[in-house]
Amino acid sequence: MTAHGNTYGGNKSYLEQKPCTHCGRTMTWRKKWARTWDAVRYCSERCRREARQQRSAASDADRTNATSEQNDHSS
Ligand SMILES: [Zn+2]
Repeated sequence: MTAHGNTYGGNKSYLEQKPCTHCGRTMTWRKKWARTWDAVRYCSERCRREARQQRSAASDADRTNATSEQNDHSS
């Protein structure tokens, strides 16, 4: 008999972990994230809001630039 080379006793007890993209804190898989784990990026609602505010501020500046370039076409 050969071993499978798997060191985990049972994968049921293994919980995935990944860092929050906003604060870098390690998040551990939770049951409520079972369906959305791949989409989860922030450890908390607060991090999500703060990251969103920073993003929207940046994209606002991009928008203003693009609009002024488009307006240049009118003659
Ligand atoms: Zn966070």
